[in-house]
Amino acid sequence: MADLILFWHRRDLRLRDNVGLFEARQRTPKVVGVFCLDPHILERDDVAPARVAYLVGCLQALQKGYAEAGSQLVILKNSPEKAIPTLAEAVGARAVLWNLDGEPYARERDRAVKAALEQAGIQVETFWDQLLHGPDEIRSGAGTPYTVYTPFWKNWSQRPKASPYPALQGAEGLTPQEQAAAAGAGAIALPSARELGFVWANPLFLEPGELAAQQRLESFCNEAIAAYQSDRNFPSQPSTSQLSAALKFGAIGIRTVWAKTLEVMEQARSNETRDSIRVWQQELAWREFYQHVMYLFPELAEGPYRQPFKNFPWLNCEDHFQAWCAGQTGYPIVDAAMRQLNATGWMHNRCRMIVASFLTKDLIVDWRWGEKYFMQTLIDGDQAANNGGWQWSASSGMDPKPLRIFNPASQAQKFDPEADYIRTWVPELRSLETAALVTGQILPLDRKRCHYPQPIVDHNQRQKQFKAIYAKQKAIADF
Ligand SMILES: Cc1cc2nc3c(=O)[nH]c(=O)nc-3n(C[C@H](O)[C@H](O)[C@H](O)COP(=O)(O)OP(=O)(O)OC[C@H]3O[C@@H](n4cnc5c(N)ncnc54)[C@H](O)[C@@H]3O)c2cc1C
Repeated sequence: MADLILFWHRRDLRLRDNVGLFEARQRTPKVVGVFCLDPHILERDDVAPARVAYLVGCLQALQKGYAEAGSQLVILKNSPEKAIPTLAEAVGARAVLWNLDGEPYARERDRAVKAALEQAGIQVETFWDQLLHGPDEIRSGAGTPYTVYTPFWKNWSQRPKASPYPALQGAEGLTPQEQAAAAGAGAIALPSARELGFVWANPLFLEPGELAAQQRLESFCNEAIAAYQSDRNFPSQPSTSQLSAALKFGAIGIRTVWAKTLEVMEQARSNETRDSIRVWQQELAWREFYQHVMYLFPELAEGPYRQPFKNFPWLNCEDHFQAWCAGQTGYPIVDAAMRQLNATGWMHNRCRMIVASFLTKDLIVDWRWGEKYFMQTLIDGDQAANNGGWQWSASSGMDPKPLRIFNPASQAQKFDPEADYIRTWVPELRSLETAALVTGQILPLDRKRCHYPQPIVDHNQRQKQFKAIYAKQKAIADF
């Protein structure tokens, strides 16, 4: 009988282009998938119901895929350091393989699982899968890690990238006896998001699963990518890939995504299209950059990187924060974006930057409050990308430009010039003139008539206040 290898899925919920799973199948046909619903993650206070619903959808698709490939996906619900070794021992697995995850909690968890498995005499092998280049691969000429994106991109983009790996095929699953042993060791039927305690009442904005992600990649690369450079900042247009949740959970392999960009680059007929594809590749590199720095500087997860922000006297007004969360700040572009987030679990990148700047620079609220609210709501919530985006917006991160303050009116004038996005998400203002919506200069009487709040702060006054606080903090830090 063939040796049994368990493949532990975490952020790689797919059978195609999966490095660790491919390696497992190279070693034996008897490859069985495992996913562990981890209470340390599910019981945190920053888990978004939309994200759990998306995760469960991906697991359903993965179960189907395993059945088609001749094997199965076992679901566990317990601490991985207990659940994985217990299952592996019960079914007599020779080895457990998995793909690495650079988040601080994941690294600590994996060390514990590895130690427990090895103590039980079960082999462990791990691989980098979710990145085109692992975090130890990209170094400056001096051998140090990059802390700034542009030189990182120059180095990263020049390196050869791996091609996609073949899908799992011709696998063997557990025998009836082994299945009984797995059940005794904690294997359960896949629960729904509701059974896990998460209710997402709206339809899922992004379809979960490997097939849906593949189709999304195809349709984006065959159409919108050609105009990505010019259109990507306009939130009313479907001009970005909306692959973020698929990339976060690994419903699609990053080598597959990269290979598709090379294919469309090859077919591109104009410089404009080639430039657009390049810009999209740069976004994929931002994703890798933030994962690398989170791996290499895990202290980023704990707080600000730059000194002036270490003891920053944020005003942290609870009422202002609640108005921001609810999309009731009286700034139409900010409110539209927050309402899109609350209704769909997703927000356009331009709007993520606008609302993050508004929270930190206008309301002068600690960026960590916003970071957490995003994790509580985003379908694609990802520690590295979210922390990177928030620290960039707050100016507290590695980025050398210290003060980036977005003016909500100029942002709306530039990126939502016809107020289409604002009208979609703030329907009570639909009847007002476009100029009033994009500048935010709405008469108090109109605001009252439309049941829309007065601005909760004055942008000009607040940006001066923020700059003054920052100057003081910087002087202390430089002293
Ligand atoms: C304050 C703030 C918080 C953010 N939080 C998250 C988050 O939790 N999860 C997340 O995936 N992205 C986050 N981003 C990055 C970005 O907004 C989203 O990745 C993007 O909007 C997703 O839409 P898309 O898939 O259509 O992107 P596209 O424009 O099609 O880009 C393709 C892919 O590149 C990656 N990417 C693009 N921009 C960035 C970026 N700036 N940083 C890192 N990766 C990027 C994503 O994986 C994305 O799916 C955040 C940005 C900001 C400013």
